This record gives sequence, structure tokens and C-alpha cells, in this order.
Amino acid sequence: MQYVSTRGSASALNFEGVTLAGLARDGGLYLPAEWPRFSQSEIADMAGLPYAELAARVMAPFVEGSLTHDELGDLCARAYGTFAHEGVTPLKQFDQQQWLLELFHGPTLAFKDVALQLLGRLFEHFLKKRDDHLTIVGATSGDTGSAAIDAVAGRERIDIFMLHPHGRVSDVQRRQMTTVRAPNVHNLAIEGSFDDAQAMVKRMFVDDQMNGRFRISAVNSINWARLMAQVVYYFAAALQLGGPQRKVAFSVPTGNFGDVFAGYVAAKMGLPIERLIVATNINDILHRALSTGDYSAGTVTPTAAPSMDIQVSSNFERLLFDVGGRDGKALAQQMHGFEASKSMQLTNSQREGASELFTSARADAAEMTQAIAWASDKCGEVIDPHTAIGLHAARHADVAKDVPIVTLATAHPAKFRDAVERATGKRPALPRRVGDLFDRTEKYEQLPGTYDAVRDYVEANATQSA
Ligand SMILES: *Cc1c(COP(=O)(O)O)cnc(C)c1O
Repeated sequence: MQYVSTRGSASALNFEGVTLAGLARDGGLYLPAEWPRFSQSEIADMAGLPYAELAARVMAPFVEGSLTHDELGDLCARAYGTFAHEGVTPLKQFDQQQWLLELFHGPTLAFKDVALQLLGRLFEHFLKKRDDHLTIVGATSGDTGSAAIDAVAGRERIDIFMLHPHGRVSDVQRRQMTTVRAPNVHNLAIEGSFDDAQAMVKRMFVDDQMNGRFRISAVNSINWARLMAQVVYYFAAALQLGGPQRKVAFSVPTGNFGDVFAGYVAAKMGLPIERLIVATNINDILHRALSTGDYSAGTVTPTAAPSMDIQVSSNFERLLFDVGGRDGKALAQQMHGFEASKSMQLTNSQREGASELFTSARADAAEMTQAIAWASDKCGEVIDPHTAIGLHAARHADVAKDVPIVTLATAHPAKFRDAVERATGKRPALPRRVGDLFDRTEKYEQLPGTYDAVRDYVEANATQSA
């Protein structure tokens, strides 16, 4: 399988190449040169497989030429063996139409583990084969950072530098990052918002001086391998609810547009999906873009769902590329315009293409709280604020009554205990697997929000590539 950049000028790479590269050298994001497609009978044959085997089956076409069947199977078995639930991503039922897909049974309590437990092992596999070293630079609004750090802590040939917006992640999120003592882990608390931190990471990827000395890679959802791993649970859920004979809709709490884009990929591969509902909080650039075509970034307002406090959704570029005729040159121009003015209009073909599968909704703080209370009253299920935004959107979606709607439960409620306590009066307990998180000492560097400060720190602390 070959991968092409959304901005049309970086050279095509195979799966190993895109996994190690992250962002393309032309500033674009990688996508498969064409979508692999399963027949309906191939999909039906996947029903009942254990999660790790299903994962290997769904991902096989994407890794062709870079991993053997046995290597992929082994990596999946090890990655999903770290989950605390045997089903890995179990489904729960609220009522006739509403379902919940629990994606938070991994080591750091959010859905990011599903992809990152695999990505950490993919890195290790490819680096060993090449006898090379990797410098991971990432920005996190909370959950990516802890999941990435857990996935690579102590692994050879990898250093990780994780930027988080100082004071804007929950205490559980921060401690899950800053209490990891492995010497290859560097936490950087940056003044500013998540978008500021992400902009610095993007800049480092196109900094020739840094790229000349270090092999810099991404663990943000701009890395294709992450999206690929997330495609699997759309298959898992649909197969349990009668797919591929029956269509299923999904409601996805959305920030950087990675998770919901994985649903789009599943549909492209032949999985019958009725709708993908993009659920946002009041930081609603995606809701505005999908409902009116106006993609313009406002300022970020902090909310109780910090992993969705984003105004620039990197992976949206992948959708615009695919539904806009895959014209990399034209998209590069459109994106450069957006980067300069923080605003752009979608073309008609982009709007029409997106509306075939996507709808969107926005939930404010009161609606989020109501959804947490509904889930608790309805069936004693405690959900987190991100999941609640998805559930609100699912319950108000214009979807036929006989189509099941699956809300992706993106985080464990204990990860956002304060917000859940405010909504339900009950404080969710941390699961035993996170151990003595609040007794361990923290270690992180506090840096000003400038690119130079971050670059200097990475330069001084990273290992050069071979
Ligand atoms: C990362 C995250 C999201 C947003 O996912 P995207 O792939 O960035 O759209 C939503 N909820 C939680 C809990 C997250 O950690």
C-alpha cells in the first residue's frame, strides 16, 4: 500500500514510511493512495472474531508490503492484551436506539490507548529493523499525551517530548504524564492553548535544521497509523449490532477530527454506516463548517471537555482532500490561505461530499450536564463530559428509529471527576489499574509559549538519528 500527501508534493511512502514520518514534508497529511474495499461477505465473516484478530483482519490491507500477516497479528495481540476488558471495546445499551461503545479500558483511561498501544509497538518494530532512533514530538490537550507516554515509556530507540497547555489539562491527565519516570519521557508545560502547542509541533516538522539532525515523528492523530487502528472499533460495533446487513450510525465527540475520520474510512472500506454525527462542544468550528461551509477559527474557550477544546482540526484536511477530488495542489493553496487568515470557505464539492455521510451538532455546558444525568438516571451509567456531548448529539439526531446510534465513549468518567461530580453529585472512583497516581512525584519543564524555547529544549535533550 502506498500513501500520498493531501498537499500533493511530498513523495509517496509505504506504511512503514508514513508511520515513522507522521506529517508529510510538504505540511500535508498522508492517506492511502486508494481505499481498500471489503465485500459484504468478507465483512460478515469477521463477526465474532476476538478483537485482536478482527484488528489484524481490518488493518491487513493498509500494512501490505511493510508487515507480514504474522507480524501484524503478533503486534495486535500484544497491544490489545494491555486492556482491562476482554472485549477491548465493549458495547452497552441505553434504550431501543441508543448504545455506548466503551473505548476507555486501556491503561490511561481514554480511547487514545486503542491506537497508541499499537503505534508504540509499530515504532519499536520498524526502528529495530532499521537500527534507527526516533524523536517523538507531540502536543496534547490531555489524553494523547498520557496514552503516548504510556505506549513508549522505557522503549529503546525512542525519546518523547510532549507539550501540554499549562494549567489546561485535568489533574488526572497531567499526573498520568508527569509521574512517568522513564528517562526517555520529557513533559513540557507550555504557556498558551492546545492550538498554540500544536502549531509549534507542526513547525518543528518543517524545520530543516531539526529534521537534518533528528528523525522527528508524530503521535498526534496526524499519524496515519493511529487513524487506521481506530477504524477497527467501528467494525467491531457494527458487527455486534447486525452489520453488515443492518446500517448503524455513530455519534463521535470530536476535537481534531481523527476519531470520526476513522469512521469515514470504515465506510470507504465497505462497512454500511448510516450517519457519522460530529459532536462538538462550544468550540464548534467543525459544526459551523459542516452546517454552513464556514471554516473559521475563533478563540478557544476552555470547557469541562478539554480534549475537544480545539479550533483547528488537523484531520479535517484529510476529509477535504478526499471529498474534494484529491487535488493536492488546490488543497495546499486552500490550506495556506487558511493558515494565513484563520478562515476559509469549503468548496461546493467539499460541502456536498461531506454531507453524504456527516452531520454535526453542538452541545453547551447545560446540555452536557443533562446528558450525564440522563445516562445516570436511565441505566446507572456514569459517563464523562466528552461522551456526554456525543450522547446529547445522538439523542437529538435526525436518524430513523430503527437505526441504532452508537455513541463513542471516549474517556473513563474518573478521568474528569470534577465535572462528573458537578453533574451527578457522585465522584467516580479511579479504576485500580492506575495505581497510586496521586502519591507519585511529578516531573515536567515549564516553558514560555515560543517556538524557540521548545526547539532549544528538544535540541539539547534528544538523541540524534543514525
Ligand atoms: C482526543 C479526544 C477526543 C477528540 O478526538 P479527536 O480524534 O481529536 O476528534 C474526544 N474525547 C476524548 C476523551 C479525547 O481524549
